[in-house]
Amino acid sequence: MTPLDTLRRPLRDLRISVTDRCNFRCGYCMPKEVFGRGYDFLPREAILSFEEIARLAAIFVQLGVEKVRLTGGEPLLRRNLDRLVAQLAALEGLRDLTLTTNGSRLCEEAAPLRAAGLRRLTVSVDSLDEATFRAMNDVDFPLHRVLTGLDAARAAGFRPIKINMVVQRGVNDGEVVALARRFSGADFILRFIEFMDVGNTNGWRLAAVVPAAEILARLEREFSLEPLPAQYRGEVARRYRQRDGGGEIGFITSVTAPFCGDCTRARLSAEGRLYTCLFAGTGCDLRTPLRAGASDAEFAEIIRAVWSARTDRYSELRTAATAGAPRKVEMAHIGG
Ligand code: SAM
Repeated sequence: MTPLDTLRRPLRDLRISVTDRCNFRCGYCMPKEVFGRGYDFLPREAILSFEEIARLAAIFVQLGVEKVRLTGGEPLLRRNLDRLVAQLAALEGLRDLTLTTNGSRLCEEAAPLRAAGLRRLTVSVDSLDEATFRAMNDVDFPLHRVLTGLDAARAAGFRPIKINMVVQRGVNDGEVVALARRFSGADFILRFIEFMDVGNTNGWRLAAVVPAAEILARLEREFSLEPLPAQYRGEVARRYRQRDGGGEIGFITSVTAPFCGDCTRARLSAEGRLYTCLFAGTGCDLRTPLRAGASDAEFAEIIRAVWSARTDRYSELRTAATAGAPRKVEMAHIGG
């Protein structure tokens, strides 16, 4: 039986962070000033092995999880990730297996991931302007390598590919129409994400958030859009279709129209902590019982207990003044 939390939300999705490291230093996620040289990333032995991840994932699936997303940090920094994908793809009952990446290593990794059983892919692309792209990733990573990676992913059979754009006022908001043009058509699904106050270090200000309604208004000046119905409970994107067949566009309105009431997501951090909210401060340690030899039944009990006690609905309670709020876990750590 799938556990329900105190707000009667079932456990359906699991996001697994396979590493807390990333090769980008996007200011909204892993700003250089904090995640610079000297930052203490998790040592190798602290991170769950593929076997440990696959074992926990299997227990989550038995408890009702239908969808797993691999993320990080940058998941493609984890060597031989296709081996983990193959283990997860073999899980009976898992209906959807996907991965979110910054696209920097897709040229090399798209084909092996596909061959291992990955069916869907989300790639973060915040700008199509070379200078802005390089400035946003803050490691001078060239845009063309991500675009070539997207070509490699299409050639490997990923279709449609989801594109995530985090929109920040004064940084890349001038590009929403350009992205909608570039990523239209059946090969892509574009998601505009409102800039969120994840972690404690990204200098979030409400003024930098471009509300989805504003983005939609800008797009409607250029395209004829019609709303699409939600496909399932817990779907976070508000979806639209370009009437001329140009493709799907969606909005993740976590700031202006939070969707906590429908959140069915659990998160497993790279070192094996279970979080029930992206904005959580603490997680439940699964690694210690894992390495102490706990049985599947014992894990099922732990996970059930955590989920059943869940009360969080951070985004619905958020105010503009988050500065005084308790410390939250960083997104790269917990997995976006
Ligand atoms: N490294 C991978 C990537 O770049 O897609 C996966 C991890 S990343 C944390 C997952 C997603 O979270 C990305 O699409 C990223 O843009 C988004 N993200 C990170 N920080 C965010 C923030 N403050 N607000 C909104 N989205 C954010």
